Amino acid sequence: MSKVILKGGTIWTADSVYVADIFIQDGIIKTIGQDIQYQADEVIDLAGKIVMPGGVDVHTHLDAPVGETTTIDDFASGTVAAACGGTTTIVDFATQQKNQGLVETVEMWHEKAADKAVIDYGFHISVTDLYEGSMTDLGKVVDSGVTSFKIFMDYPDTLMLDDGEIFRVLQAGGRYGAKVCVHASNGKVIDRIAEDLVYQGKTGPEGHLLSRPPATEVEAVNRAIAISRMADAPLYFVHLSTEGAAYALAEAKDHEWPVDGETCTHYLTLDKELYFKPDFEGAKAVLTPPLAGEKDRDALWKGLRTGSLSIVSSDHCPFCFEQKKIGIDDFRRIPNGGSGIEHRIQLMYADGVVAGRLTPQQFVDIVSTAPAKAFGMYPQKGQIAIGSDADITVIDPDGVTKISAETHNMRTDYSLWEGWERAGRIVRVFSRGEEIVRDGVYVGAAGRGSYLKRRTI
Ligand SMILES: [Zn+2]
Repeated sequence: MSKVILKGGTIWTADSVYVADIFIQDGIIKTIGQDIQYQADEVIDLAGKIVMPGGVDVHTHLDAPVGETTTIDDFASGTVAAACGGTTTIVDFATQQKNQGLVETVEMWHEKAADKAVIDYGFHISVTDLYEGSMTDLGKVVDSGVTSFKIFMDYPDTLMLDDGEIFRVLQAGGRYGAKVCVHASNGKVIDRIAEDLVYQGKTGPEGHLLSRPPATEVEAVNRAIAISRMADAPLYFVHLSTEGAAYALAEAKDHEWPVDGETCTHYLTLDKELYFKPDFEGAKAVLTPPLAGEKDRDALWKGLRTGSLSIVSSDHCPFCFEQKKIGIDDFRRIPNGGSGIEHRIQLMYADGVVAGRLTPQQFVDIVSTAPAKAFGMYPQKGQIAIGSDADITVIDPDGVTKISAETHNMRTDYSLWEGWERAGRIVRVFSRGEEIVRDGVYVGAAGRGSYLKRRTI
């Protein structure tokens, strides 16, 4: 029986901002009100601080095989970094390998996460190889709480499904009440452009950008929407990066089609010029789809404000520079992925709210409430309300955060935001009522996270 009072903070939710006390008992928010005087084990003064629901990051790749290597953060280091960055829930992608069963894939991810994760976690299943009985297995996976599937329209030799297979998975999603997440890029066209570039001797990291022009995303987004209409099933787009994609979603939403999408921290804050850095440094920014330009960034921010995009995730898929060097002679072999699970909330607060692009409510919604709602975790997660888990992030608006690989908790030996200084500092984080981050340092127990069995959509 633990009782904690968070006193006098300014509570930010997806629909309001107000000053109140929060009374937490046994990990659950029991009362919210003025001047709460209950007996408590601890009373924490949060006057002048922002108190928001803990972040929900629905796109991570921990301990995940990618190409010829494996992401460098496992469920221990990755979730400690997430916690320090104010994220208290993740949904990680369990990715089916060729000839691997879907149920077996999920079991494998349970083994990776159990006793390691320090925050609560769920899984999506990435479906890459259909087999006899795979649709039945998807039903079993859904029953176990993995209520979203991912499909790839990219990476033709390894992960891609063809349009007919995508249609089948969408139908299964509709049948089981699972959300289908789409990685939308035209992999076949990309491979041809990349082949030409290499033939012309353009083997450096900038080839990653040049081989993936915006139309390769926009075409796939429109095709996926059309297929989902044929399958009569809802659709969710991961990591959208372009103006054209944001427009396609706005149009689909205008027709009231059940389509939703996310963008990621890096698309909102970083520029494609990074690919042209000398000494193979551009490889550090090789993630998919590639970073875009200012016009796209403006369209993505606008999409978040107008609701055509509703979520910002990290797509944390971390590699060290040495791993990136697998592709030193051919950009096609550079492992695709960036590292940002720790800075999503901080950057969306600073570049979103402080910079005047988002209201406090919009900010809370895109980093916490909307992802919890979209993936069957609300109101247990993503909300400060009576009965919700006491997952709470506290920001000191007068603090300053300086981002550096020297000080971050992720295992990556570089940061795409190296040296950035931003207003606001995440000072305390609570997970189910337990303080797990204090003054930016993880203070919780090892492996304390729990598996989240998510509801169907
Ligand atoms: Zn991803």
